[in-house]
Amino acid sequence: MKKVLIIGGGFAGCANAHALSLTGEYEITLVEKSNQLGAGVRTHFWGGHPYTFGPRHFLTKDQKLYDFLNKYVPMRDCSEHKYLTYVEKDDQFYSMPLSYDDIELMPDKQQIYNELDDIKKNPSNQKPENLEDFWISSIGKILYKKVVENYNKKMWMVDDNKVFKSFGWSTKGDPIKKGKRDAFDNEVISAYPISLDGYNKYFDIAVKGVKHLLLNTSIEEINLNKLEVKIKGEFHKFDFIISSISPDEIVGNIYGELKYMGRDLLKIVLPMKECFPKDIYFLYYANEEIFTRIVEYKRFTKYESNNTLIGLEIPSKKGKYYPLPLEEEQNKAMKYHNHLPANFFCVGRNGTYRYSVDIDDCIEQAFFVADLIKKSKWENAVPMEKHRMKNFSSMGKE
Ligand SMILES: Cc1cc2nc3c(=O)[nH]c(=O)nc-3n(C[C@H](O)[C@H](O)[C@H](O)COP(=O)(O)OP(=O)(O)OC[C@H]3O[C@@H](n4cnc5c(N)ncnc54)[C@H](O)[C@@H]3O)c2cc1C
Repeated sequence: MKKVLIIGGGFAGCANAHALSLTGEYEITLVEKSNQLGAGVRTHFWGGHPYTFGPRHFLTKDQKLYDFLNKYVPMRDCSEHKYLTYVEKDDQFYSMPLSYDDIELMPDKQQIYNELDDIKKNPSNQKPENLEDFWISSIGKILYKKVVENYNKKMWMVDDNKVFKSFGWSTKGDPIKKGKRDAFDNEVISAYPISLDGYNKYFDIAVKGVKHLLLNTSIEEINLNKLEVKIKGEFHKFDFIISSISPDEIVGNIYGELKYMGRDLLKIVLPMKECFPKDIYFLYYANEEIFTRIVEYKRFTKYESNNTLIGLEIPSKKGKYYPLPLEEEQNKAMKYHNHLPANFFCVGRNGTYRYSVDIDDCIEQAFFVADLIKKSKWENAVPMEKHRMKNFSSMGKE
């Protein structure tokens, strides 16, 4: 039996173990540095309330991915959910993405319409050079300042949005919606596990076929050319390696550490049955508050209690949650990926160093890699872009 090592037991590592074990053809070892599987998607409990680190609902445009996961962790549709963003200057909550109904509520709507008219009449035929230009040229200065400028600066801890030269990832990249305020894109499946322990059972199912499941274990050294890895003091040889961890940790920091944004999560129980309006699952804050988003977990979990739990996400330097969409960091990641030999695959958010990789992408990549391994298409030279699995269906929806 060919031997496969999977590094990291987050959603990506687990899904890869699952996809490979369904073939029944490999001896799989999975190493996970912490004492549990699932990382931020794992459900924990606080005062009885189930919660994850941030929202972590399942969003996809691909029915197959939904059907796959739903088979193991039955899910309930939550596509009625809406997001709002608070604009302190107007003391108003607007829908996200904005719609013309929102603009109607704005005190400076006339100036906004003038800016939008101007954009329509004089569209720039120059490609925007940075995130700020991109936004101003699509929604005008006033709306950019209200909902994008400070949110992005806070989210990435930068002083100036001009540092972002690419912006396909920009979560609020949707233009102003023509439709009604709060209408959700009905092509997207949005769902959440019915069970109060969320996706946790999936992680157990996914690793059932793993021969060596090593929790509390980190890889100690890698000989990339020989695909030999030191684990618990001994070198083991593998035929394939699938890594969901940052590629600089694999190659050794020869080009410097890849940068990530971290997050702190503040959990607060409030003495009321629910605190968000109907169908609002989370709120964005685009002003000087130190947090970016608040989630009311009950909305997803349907947990019954006289209290409610909210989670505030605060940008920090703690943890590797968000690979930076900065050109220099993306190029650095590519240089690391270029060092990887045949039969070494990078998956998941940190493995690919792509911010836009979500839960559905992790599953899609896992089946793609399992298929490649099965066909052993790339036993010899493996082009870099194939190491760095695409996020096929990601919509930058987080
Ligand atoms: C705050 C937040 C909210 C999100 N919300 C959503 C959402 O609502 N919907 C959605 O679809 N996606 C969401 N995402 C994205 C999605 O959850 C992630 O893309 C996905 O969980 C990534 O899984 P992963 O396995 O690639 O990475 P991770 O979850 O980071 O897992 C990597 C694992 O590797 C382990 N590890 C690290 N180093 C080593 C080592 N040296 N040796 C062994 N193990 C190691 C870690 O302990 C961890 O368990 C969110 C992401 C964040 C940060």
